[in-house]
Amino acid sequence: MSRFWSQVVHGLSPYVPGEQPKLGNLVKLNTNENPYGPGLRVLEALRAEAADSLRLYPDPNSERLRQVIAEYHGVERANVFVGNGSDEVLAHAFHALLKHDLPILFPDITYSFYPVYCGLYGIEYKEVALTDGFEIRVDDYLRPNGGIVFPNPNAPTGRALALNEIERLLLSNPDSVVVVDEAYVDFGAESAVGLVKRYPQLLVTHTLSKSRSLAGLRVGYAVGNAELIEALDRVKDSFNSYPLGRLAQAGATAAMQDRAYFESSCRKVISTREKLVADLQTLGFEVLPSAANFVLTRHPQYDGKELTAKLRERSIIVRHFRKPERIAPFMRITIGTDVQCAALVGALADILRQPV
Ligand SMILES: *Cc1c(COP(=O)(O)O)cnc(C)c1O
Repeated sequence: MSRFWSQVVHGLSPYVPGEQPKLGNLVKLNTNENPYGPGLRVLEALRAEAADSLRLYPDPNSERLRQVIAEYHGVERANVFVGNGSDEVLAHAFHALLKHDLPILFPDITYSFYPVYCGLYGIEYKEVALTDGFEIRVDDYLRPNGGIVFPNPNAPTGRALALNEIERLLLSNPDSVVVVDEAYVDFGAESAVGLVKRYPQLLVTHTLSKSRSLAGLRVGYAVGNAELIEALDRVKDSFNSYPLGRLAQAGATAAMQDRAYFESSCRKVISTREKLVADLQTLGFEVLPSAANFVLTRHPQYDGKELTAKLRERSIIVRHFRKPERIAPFMRITIGTDVQCAALVGALADILRQPV
């Protein structure tokens, strides 16, 4: 608290990101990063960009990157917006497209940045409860609203909503913006990008942080109708004209072009996930079906917080959420390499063997 703070700052409750420990030698399965680094083509593009030209401002509109993303998704350049991580893209979407008279809707268990943006921009919201099985039920969203936002697959549950359900939501909600946050879609859910041409109220956001192994570069994007994209550009150019530096633009462009590397690392993560799920079930864990690069899991006899602490003593970091209460018994485990997941399963087996 300080008398120098603006009224807005007094009222904020900022997002708390997962820990980035300074120690090495940890099995880090807490922030959904990709266990495989970026491909060689990305590293080469970054090295080529580390040059005298860094004294010059970058392209303010990241034209080449937007074009490459448009080609990847089979849309026009006018349908693509890019930002400094999809968190920035989402923030602009809240500001530009979700601030109207009625409250916006999002799930009660979801990405915890959404209520933070609402606090920052003064947007009213209503949380819609997930089902007992932690699923989004589209019927619960069919009511007047100022907009709708949810991740697909949802975080931190990992559960995916089928594309026909998303289309049903769009059909019955023609008058406010629907943002589908597809941060994890490449690990096994169906993308709604193909619906953008038919539904002018649909904005789909993606990140290069997870499936494209570039959390450290900070690049995300949105695909939507040109009018929605123009709104995002208007906010961007009222905030920061150069959200992506030269390195970010070059690395992200190479990452979008290197499909083979991207597809192979996604396949590896998915196959490790399937093995991890089976191993956890063998140990008596209950695991929610995941279409993401993490799983939400609990053991009937152990508390999520306690297990997280015991794993930490063994240098394995996973994420535990105290709130909402419904997910407090769970741990969210990022899919690592096969070796990292084997270490996790070994440690859990060891913990379960100890007398309670
Ligand atoms: C990781 C994540 C993001 C943000 O990704 P960045 O591009 O790294 O900012 C957005 N939404 C969800 C649901 C995420 O888990």
